[in-house]
Amino acid sequence: MANPTIAIVGRPNVGKSTLFNRIAGERISIVEDTPGVTRDRIYATGEWLGKEFSIIDTGGIDLGDEPFMDQIRHQAEIAIEEADVIIFVGSGQEGVTDADELVARILFKSNKPVILAVNKVDNPEMRNEIYEFYSLGLGDPYPVSGSHGLGLGDVLDEAIRHFSTEIEPEEEGVIKFSLIGRPNVGKSSLINGILGEERVIVSEIEGTTRDAVDTHFVGENGQKFTMIDTAGMRKRGKVYESTEKYSVMRAMRAIERSDIVLFVINAEEGIREQDKRIAGYAHEAGRGLIIVVNKWDLVKKDTNSMRDFEQEIRDEFQYLDYAPIIFVSAVTRQRLNKLPELIERVSESQNLRIPSSVLNDVIMDAVAINPTPTDKGRRLKIFYSTQVAVKPPAFVIFVNEEELMHFSYARFLENQIRNAFTFEGTPIRIIARRRK
Ligand code: GDP
Ligand code: GDP
Repeated sequence: MANPTIAIVGRPNVGKSTLFNRIAGERISIVEDTPGVTRDRIYATGEWLGKEFSIIDTGGIDLGDEPFMDQIRHQAEIAIEEADVIIFVGSGQEGVTDADELVARILFKSNKPVILAVNKVDNPEMRNEIYEFYSLGLGDPYPVSGSHGLGLGDVLDEAIRHFSTEIEPEEEGVIKFSLIGRPNVGKSSLINGILGEERVIVSEIEGTTRDAVDTHFVGENGQKFTMIDTAGMRKRGKVYESTEKYSVMRAMRAIERSDIVLFVINAEEGIREQDKRIAGYAHEAGRGLIIVVNKWDLVKKDTNSMRDFEQEIRDEFQYLDYAPIIFVSAVTRQRLNKLPELIERVSESQNLRIPSSVLNDVIMDAVAINPTPTDKGRRLKIFYSTQVAVKPPAFVIFVNEEELMHFSYARFLENQIRNAFTFEGTPIRIIARRRK
C-alpha cells in the first residue's frame, strides 16, 4: 500500500530543503551513511499525528542547464504528477515574485490540493508579510519558519486533511513486484519480455488512475502477479525523466508498493555507484529482492564468467547476501521464463512462519555451537524466541539485557536461522528484547 505523498515546490532559496529536512526528521538511513552516497535527499518518509506519508523535495531534482523558469516549471509538473498534496513555499522576506506567480498558475490548473506556506516568517512581527500572498489565488497563506521550526504543525494538519481515506483494496494472493535499476539497464525490455511469455495471461483489471500503469497477469500455474510500473517506463519523453534523482525517486516509490523488487544490473556495464544506492533502498525497505543481471547475451563468456560476475556482485553488495542472482537476456529471452517461479519462491520465503517450538530448537542449537557473548562480566542469556512478523520475517529474541546482543551475534543467529529454513530473497530481522 503506497503512502500518501506530499511534494514541496517553490523557487530556489525559499527554504524548501530546510522544511523538507524538518518534516522528514532525523531518519538518516544506512544508505545515506555509506561513503560515496549523496546525503542530499529528495525523498523521505515522515509522520504526523500517526499518519505516515512520503515527502519529495522537488527543488532537489537537478535539471542541469535548463533556463531558470523551465526548471521551476518542471519541478511543479513533477509535484503534480507525483503528489497527493502540494506544499507551495514562498518567502516572507522577499515577498511574491514572478517565479512564484508562474508556479501558482501551474498548480492552480492542476486541481491538486495546494497548501501555501510562507517561509522565513521567523517572528510574530513578520506575520504581516503573508498577506500579499493572497494574490496568488491559492487560499490562505500559512506563516512558517523552517529554520526555527515554527508553524509547520498547521501546515501538516492541513496536508493530512487532504489525504484520501480511500483504501486501495489488497487482493489476496497477488504478488506485487517491480523492476528497478538505472536508466537503460533493460527494465522495459524485461517487462515486455516477461509479459510476452506466451503462457502469461495479462488480465484486464482496471487500476486506479494513479496505478493505471500497473499490469496484472496470471502465471502458468495460476499465480496472480501485479507488475508495478517504475520510471513511467511506458510513457517516456519528459525532460526530467532521465535525471538520476528523478529515477531514484521513482524507484523508491515502486519499492514502497512492491512485495518483491527485481534489481536489474546491466551485465555489459557492470556495477555503478547508482546501482548501489538503489539496492540499498530496496534492502532497507525490507522487501524481497532478486538481482537480475540483464544483457547477458552481450558478455563474452568463458567457463568462469558467471561465477566471476556473481562474486563481484557478492563483494559489492555484501548486505544482499540473501538475494538470488539470475543472469538473463531480454533480447534472446534467455531464462526469462524462470523469473515468475523465482518471484514465487521469494514470496513463499517472505511469508514463511516458523513455529516457535522449531525456532527455539534452532536457537538452542546455535547457542550450543557458539556460546552467547559476555560484556564486562555479564553474559547474554537467551530465554525464548518467537516470530512476530512476515514480509519481512521478524524474530524477537527475549534476553536478559538487550545491549548484550551484539551485532555480530545477531548476525550469527540470523545465519543459523537461514541455514535451518529457506528464507531465499528476503531480509530477516532479529530483534532482542528484554524479558519483562
Ligand atoms: P531551497 O533552495 O528552497 O531548498 O532553500 P534552502 O532550504 O536551501 O534555504 C535557503 C536559505 O534560506 C538558507 O540559507 C536557509 O538557511 C535559509 N532559510 C531557510 N528557512 C529559513 C527560515 O525559516 N528563516 C530564515 N531566516 N532563513 C531560512
Ligand atoms: P530501461 O531504461 O531500463 O527501461 O531500458 P530499456 O529496456 O529501454 O533498454 C535499454 C536498451 O538496452 C535498449 O536499446 C534495449 O534494446 C537494450 N536491451 C535491453 N535488454 C537487453 C538485452 O538483454 N540484451 C541486449 N543486447 N540489449 C538489451
